[in-house]
Amino acid sequence: MDTRYIFVTGGVVSSLGKGIISSSLARLLLSRGFSVTIQKFDPYINIDPGTLNPYEHGECYVTVDGHEADLDLGHYERFTNIKTTRANNITTGRVYQSVIDKERRGDYLGKTVQIIPHITDEIKRNVKLLGTTGKYDLVITEIGGTVGDIESLPFLEAVRQLRWELGNKCICVHLTYVPYIRAAKELKTKPTQHSVKLLQQEGIQPDILVLRTEKDIPAAMRRKVAQFCNVSVDAVIQSIDVPSIYEVPLMMHRQGLDTLVLTKTDMPCKGEPDLTKWNHFLDKMNNASTEVKIGLVGKYVELQDAYKSIDESLFQACTYHDRKLNLTYINSERINDANVEQLLAGMDGIIVAPGFGQRGTEGKFAALKWCREHDMPTFGICLGMQCMVIEFARNVLHMDDANSTEIDPKTRHNVIDLMEEQKSITNMGGTMRLGAYACHLKQGTRVAKAYDTLHIEERHRHRFEFNDEFRQQFEAAGMVCAGENPETHLVEAVELPDHRWYIGVQYHPEYQSTVLSPHPLFMDFIRACISK
Ligand code: GLN
Repeated sequence: MDTRYIFVTGGVVSSLGKGIISSSLARLLLSRGFSVTIQKFDPYINIDPGTLNPYEHGECYVTVDGHEADLDLGHYERFTNIKTTRANNITTGRVYQSVIDKERRGDYLGKTVQIIPHITDEIKRNVKLLGTTGKYDLVITEIGGTVGDIESLPFLEAVRQLRWELGNKCICVHLTYVPYIRAAKELKTKPTQHSVKLLQQEGIQPDILVLRTEKDIPAAMRRKVAQFCNVSVDAVIQSIDVPSIYEVPLMMHRQGLDTLVLTKTDMPCKGEPDLTKWNHFLDKMNNASTEVKIGLVGKYVELQDAYKSIDESLFQACTYHDRKLNLTYINSERINDANVEQLLAGMDGIIVAPGFGQRGTEGKFAALKWCREHDMPTFGICLGMQCMVIEFARNVLHMDDANSTEIDPKTRHNVIDLMEEQKSITNMGGTMRLGAYACHLKQGTRVAKAYDTLHIEERHRHRFEFNDEFRQQFEAAGMVCAGENPETHLVEAVELPDHRWYIGVQYHPEYQSTVLSPHPLFMDFIRACISK
C-alpha cells in the first residue's frame, strides 16, 4: 500500500485548534472508508508529558499501551475511535534519546552525530513508523508548536525532506490565524502571509491553508491570501468559531477539506463520507435543552484543559440522554464543612476528580461526606475514588486518621497505600501503573449493570491503591468492592449499593469515551443524575 502522509502545521499563535482540525480530517477520511491513523509530534524536550504539571499542557492522556500522552491524542480518539499507542506521540526528547542510545551503541560507525541528518532521519523514521505497517491509507501527522519556534525547526526540516522524497504522496495543511481588529472593524491577513513566508523559508510550500477566524472571511480576502501564499483559492478554507468542536468535521467537509486532501494526494475520491452516526449525535446535541448540573470537584479548576477527557465524557453522555451539560468547577481547596451544602446542593451530580498530592484533598473529603449523607449521585475517579474510601473509613469506620500514604505517610489507617511494585521506584517518568488492565466486575453490582458485562478493560495512571488488609471491614460496613484485577486482585471499583449512585473507580473511564461510543459508566451516572 502506498501510504499518503498529511502534515498539519500551525502558524501565528498556538491554541488555534490544530488537534481538532487533524481529528476532523481523520474523521472525514475514515467516514469515506479509508484506513487512517493520526499522530502528534511535540517539539519539547520532555520524553513524554507524564511529568508535566497540568498547568503546562493541560491533562495528560493515557493510551492503552500505557503511554502518557499529549491531550490531543484524546481528541484523536474521541473523534475517530482509533486506539492510539506510544507510536502516535513523539517528542524531541524521545527523538534525542533514541539517537543518543544509538550513538552509545556505536551504530553511527564513528561519524559525527548531527541534527541533520541524524535527528531529522530519526524524526522521518518515526513519521513513517505507522505507515510502514501497511495498515494505513493515510497517516496524519500534527506538528506541535508554531512555525518560527527554534525547537520545531528539525521537525519542519524533516517534513521538507519527506515532501521532496514522497512527491504528491505527501502534503502540508497549514493552520493560521486571521485576527479581527475590533477598533478598525477589519479582519487582517498579514499574520497569515508572514507565517506562510516563514514556512516557505524552511522550504515548505503549504498545499492547503486553514484560517482560524472569529468572523466570516469574504471571498475577495481569501483570493488575496491564495495569491500571496501560492495556494489555489479553493484550498483556502476558513475555520470559524463554532459552538462545539464536534461541528468542525462538517464545517471542514462543506468547504471540501477531505476532497482536497484526497485529490492532492492522488487518492480516489468519489461520493460522500458516511456521517450518519456523527450527524445523529449532532442532532441530539443541538436539540437538547434541559440541563444537567454537574459539579466537578478538583484543584485545577481555573484551567480549561486540566480535566478535558472528563468534560468531554460528561458532554457525550448528556448528549445521548438528550440533555445539555451544565458543568461547574468547584475548587476543592475552598470546600469545607461550613460551605459544602451551599456549593453542592444545587447540583444533580458530583464528580470528584483525579489528582496528585495533598492539596485540596480535605475539601474532597468534605464534599464526599456531604454527598454520601445526602444521597447525591457521586462519581469518584482515581484520586476521587481513593478519597471516597478515606472518607468512608474516617466517618463510617471511625478511623479518624485514615488516609492515603501519599498524603500522610505515617497514618495508622493506611486504607490507600503504595502498590508493592511501586515501593522500589525512584524515577518519576513513566513509572506509574499505566495503561489498560483487565477488571472483573462483581455480579449484581451497579457497576456491572452499567457495563452490562462482567469483564472490562480500563486505563490506569496511579501509584497508590486500595489497601486489601481493610477490605473485610469496608464490606462489613456496606462499601462493596465491585471490581478487581483478575490477577493481582487489586480493588478497581467501589460502590455503596444502598445509595442512589455512589461509585468510585481506580481507573480512568474518561479515556475511553468517544463521540460514537459514549462510556457506559458516564451514561449510567448521567441517567442517575437525571432521575434525581
Ligand atoms: N495520586 C494518586 C495515585 O497516584 C491518584 C492518581 C490519579 O488520580 N490519577 O495513586
